[in-house]
Amino acid sequence: MLTTSQSPVYVAHSLDEALTLRAAHPEAMPLAGGTDVMVFIEAGAIDPPGFIDLWAARDMAGVADADGGLWIGALTTYTDLERDDRVVKAAPALVEAARTVGAKQIQNRGTLGGNIANASPAGDTLPVLMALDAEVEVASKARGARRIPIDTLYTGYRKLAVAPDELITRVFLPTPHPADVQHFRKVGTRLAQAISKVVFGARVRLEGGKVTDARVAFGSVAATPVRCPKVEAALVGRAPDPAAAGHLLDDIAPIDDVRSTADYRRTVAVRTLRSFISSLA
Ligand SMILES: Cc1cc2nc3c(=O)[nH]c(=O)nc-3n(C[C@H](O)[C@H](O)[C@H](O)COP(=O)(O)OP(=O)(O)OC[C@H]3O[C@@H](n4cnc5c(N)ncnc54)[C@H](O)[C@@H]3O)c2cc1C
Repeated sequence: MLTTSQSPVYVAHSLDEALTLRAAHPEAMPLAGGTDVMVFIEAGAIDPPGFIDLWAARDMAGVADADGGLWIGALTTYTDLERDDRVVKAAPALVEAARTVGAKQIQNRGTLGGNIANASPAGDTLPVLMALDAEVEVASKARGARRIPIDTLYTGYRKLAVAPDELITRVFLPTPHPADVQHFRKVGTRLAQAISKVVFGARVRLEGGKVTDARVAFGSVAATPVRCPKVEAALVGRAPDPAAAGHLLDDIAPIDDVRSTADYRRTVAVRTLRSFISSLA
């Protein structure tokens, strides 16, 4: 155990150690890359009574090909994602998202598990993970591992269906269908170092000129990242029709905040979606 002037820092060197520490110190905050946590501490927004430092638990990082898809460890950084050929091939939209997070320093340190656990409605990987039907594996020392479809993970603003003794351990991405088209689009104030005003992930299966399956998800337009079932239903069973974008306003609930207005978000989200559907046609 290391100690800061204020709070103890428990260092985990493996997933097993991390789960043991989590069970022993459920009040301590997990610390992965620290790119969200450090900002919150600096801003005085949090003052946890302890930390569980995961960074040295290297068995929580990396990509494995198994079970009909890819397993991505929670500690895998954005740079790791960008450099892994299997991720580039199976999840190009996730790689696009990774490339837009912060800038190089953040991509070298920020982790996929941290983006998921931070549960910001503006988290850039989250709509893409929803579009790719990702499952998030969480585990505790007492009960072992369980898998949660990412579109049921968020239960409210910055709330996750993860118990206090659990950690996010890895993420499963099923192998994409050869006819799937993936898409990622982020709208922010700048091309780098910008938190999303609107962020969009999609996966559409095109067979014989028709959409046979669709996943559409947005971030920054509701209290949590959201799937868009009305749009998905309007797309499936016919040729790609940009008019389906008209259903988006039934699926999202943007607000005014420091980054943008609800009105801007509605307008940009619909245009972004319409432009993607037009590109399919
Ligand atoms: C300058 C800057 C720019 C940024 N730009 C972007 C951007 O463009 N897009 C974007 O989406 N984000 C951005 N971020 C936010 C941040 O970089 C990402 O959310 C990153 O993925 C967080 O990962 P981390 O490993 O640093 O998480 P940490 O800061 O270590 O942790 C974040 C949260 O997740 C919890 N946590 C971490 N790992 C686990 C785990 N395995 N199990 C359970 N809980 C866990 C922590 O307790 C904490 O609550 C930016 C941050 C900075 C400082």
